[in-house]
Amino acid sequence: MNANEIIEIENKFTSGVYAKQTLTIVRGQGASLFDADGNEYLDCSSGHGVANLGHAHPKIAEALYKQASTLITLFESFPNDQRAMLMQKMTSLVDGLDRVFFCNSGTESVEAAFKFARISTGRKNIVAAMRAFHGRTYGSLSATFNKKYREGFEPLLPGFSHVAYNNIEALDKAVNEETAAVILEVVQGEGGVYPATFEYMQAVRRICDERGALLIVDEIQTGFGRTGKMFAIQHFGVIPDLLTCAKSIAGGVPMGAVLIGKNIKNLVPGVHGSTFGGNPLSCAAANAALDVIQDEDLAGQAEAKGKYLLDKLMEINSPNIREVRGIGLMVGIEMKQKVAGYIKSLQEKKIIALNAGMTVIRLLPPLVITYEQIDQLVEALTEVLSTDSVTE
Ligand SMILES: *Cc1c(COP(=O)(O)O)cnc(C)c1O
Repeated sequence: MNANEIIEIENKFTSGVYAKQTLTIVRGQGASLFDADGNEYLDCSSGHGVANLGHAHPKIAEALYKQASTLITLFESFPNDQRAMLMQKMTSLVDGLDRVFFCNSGTESVEAAFKFARISTGRKNIVAAMRAFHGRTYGSLSATFNKKYREGFEPLLPGFSHVAYNNIEALDKAVNEETAAVILEVVQGEGGVYPATFEYMQAVRRICDERGALLIVDEIQTGFGRTGKMFAIQHFGVIPDLLTCAKSIAGGVPMGAVLIGKNIKNLVPGVHGSTFGGNPLSCAAANAALDVIQDEDLAGQAEAKGKYLLDKLMEINSPNIREVRGIGLMVGIEMKQKVAGYIKSLQEKKIIALNAGMTVIRLLPPLVITYEQIDQLVEALTEVLSTDSVTE
């Protein structure tokens, strides 16, 4: 199939819920993606933060092949060697989070966290943040802020409210004895790459403790080395009660998980479950991915490369840039104009970047991106961002 055939077929049969690119990607290697004609692109999206290990990592391929020819599926009521190993690894990542629930995607991990928070506290209300993105199924959509995702799907779940992010006073007013949990991203991703402040995270933990509310941190985008630590919350010395993760957990293979703290009660058989959750194939991929993250010190790489990238971006002298912000290899460039045109121009220069809202260019490259590739990215950005954006 050539590129035009692929595009034609997808356009004909798609559900319609995706804005389709005109670029057909058929292969990946490290931080590179290749189209059907063999052209190479620098991937600065990682599939929204999935491909932290890069594409086609041999350790993931090997683990998948081995496990696929051993055992792919097994319901979690039957213990399994790969799952047991992964439980040990996952619960060793954050002190105090010593149980784990496995599922298959980000939104499922958020749904599980909400159910755990309600069954544990006997309370109903969830406080989330403005600009938050937590997923698109009904529970997580109720916590997601942007009306672009919510409109047309009401009624959403009752008991959800939103307060300004990084605003201690607003949170202080919103959390009370009826609050089951506060849910926050440690760095708001879809919302525009806004990191939490240190003071805010300390206050969030204190306010939750004072009122008996649980703290859920959503690390679906920030997890597994992206920000320079295994989890972004580790920059803050704060331990949440529930930590949701997915995206890069299994080297690109679909999986989600919730790490669970000591304060969570009433998790007894039947309370929750998932047919595919904790299947040996995904667990084997995640075991391999966690080994790679540790062996190759991907968090350390993200920290060093992120600093290198940010320093270079700060040097770009363009009147069109409002602000550059980020942590590790999670970077946002806020422009004074809409960014769709910039992202298109970058693609013409063989760079795949993301937006976050209308005015922010978001960079989430694989953590294995090379310094040469970062230089290539900076060079393209320097050229593209010095021009006025051609908007659609
Ligand atoms: C991507 C994302 C989700 C949703 O994950 P899916 O796997 O698409 O359901 C939830 N929260 C955050 C912070 C995300 O980045």
